[in-house]
Amino acid sequence: MQTGSPLSAKLACFARGLTAGLVALCVAVSATGKAHAQGLPVVRDAEIEALIREYARPILKAAGLGSNVNIVLVNDSSFNAFVAGRRIFINTGALMTSETPNEIIGVIAHEAGHIAGGHQERLREQLARAQTMAIVATLLGMGAAVAGAAGGAGGIAQAGGGLAMGGAEMARRGLLGYQRTEETTADRSALDYLQATGQSAKGMIVTFKRFASALSLSGAKVDPYQVSHPMPRERIANLQTLAEASPYYDKTDSEALQLRHDMMRVKIAVYTDGQAAAARIFRKGTGGLAAQYGDAIATYLYGNPKSALQKTDALIKANPKNPYFHELRGDILVKANRSAEAAQAYAAAIKLDPAKSSILQVAYGQALLATGKQDSIQKAVDEINKGLERDRENISAYRYLAQAYGQLGRVAEAELATAEGYYYSGVYKDAKIFAARAQTKMKPGSPAWVRAQDIINYKQPGKKKG
Ligand SMILES: [Zn+2]
Repeated sequence: MQTGSPLSAKLACFARGLTAGLVALCVAVSATGKAHAQGLPVVRDAEIEALIREYARPILKAAGLGSNVNIVLVNDSSFNAFVAGRRIFINTGALMTSETPNEIIGVIAHEAGHIAGGHQERLREQLARAQTMAIVATLLGMGAAVAGAAGGAGGIAQAGGGLAMGGAEMARRGLLGYQRTEETTADRSALDYLQATGQSAKGMIVTFKRFASALSLSGAKVDPYQVSHPMPRERIANLQTLAEASPYYDKTDSEALQLRHDMMRVKIAVYTDGQAAAARIFRKGTGGLAAQYGDAIATYLYGNPKSALQKTDALIKANPKNPYFHELRGDILVKANRSAEAAQAYAAAIKLDPAKSSILQVAYGQALLATGKQDSIQKAVDEINKGLERDRENISAYRYLAQAYGQLGRVAEAELATAEGYYYSGVYKDAKIFAARAQTKMKPGSPAWVRAQDIINYKQPGKKKG
């Protein structure tokens, strides 16, 4: 868990009216006043999600998995990717470490191989029905323990090496780990998917080699991926031989894709590690537009809004069709309390967004809400609901929706929205409390009443009584 990290500290709670940008979700405090978890480190970001889905789409298709596999971004600086239910979880640390799209595509291909192979079927069955946030809470409690135990920076971790490795080993076997045969199967599947989509397996091997190197084993930091995916040299050697046989082995990512990848990396770097982090991303002065973008984001986060706006306008002038430049413009204007203009910027971003991200839609709604004008609040409700239709698990959206309904005096709907927010956060007890409260104000049998009843009736997978 990244509690206390710059990202959590700066963007911890959407409740503070922070902007769409890169939002780290917070788990709401329960009705009894007790916090359920210390901020679930899931990152929602329209630009990053769109890019990673683009990376994954052809691979998942080649794997016969279609479009019903979700990708969840985890706010954690260590390198990790794992599968639970029909979801692939990828750490922001993995995205930042991967220098090319091909490297991360290779990781996605390997993980898709685990899903397609039906590995960890029991775990997947258990988690298939659970909400994403509940899974993250369960698995990351474990993941953090693994990373902490195996990678701890201080003397205690080193002194207690035997114990720490014991704990990590247990977690590896118990939850996120695979059998050796499953690893080989996933590797072979990954090669097939890459071949079928005309891509090189070089990136996957670069990643695996990084983990297999003696340096990474003896270093202070052991990434969770390494713990759950042991990389014996022979495995990589076999892979290398097969990969080199492909006619696509030397094929590289397009310049346009590499640029988007660099922009993603610089965004994550600036959000998580501050302004200076951007410089570390670019080797040999390969800055350009991505470096400019990083500078604009850093100025928005840490500098003055006027200067951030100038830098962003320059980006828009050079690339008027990039939706995320308009989104950044909206973020800056929200921060500067210029809500009406921010709403316009988000509206422009939505028009340009081919991925139709709910995140932009909700940011638009949020800006409309902030104007405080009655007709804008009604429009905010419509926009946020539109976003939620496409993405029921956009948790922050429910908070704004509840706020908007509240301001319109629609109390039952505000309570139902709050119940939904808790429900999709995996905080079922509070979800049921608010659903029951909402129901008392609703017409029995109406669609909203029925939805409230569904939440009240929900039974957690693996629990006898909910
Ligand atoms: Zn694996």
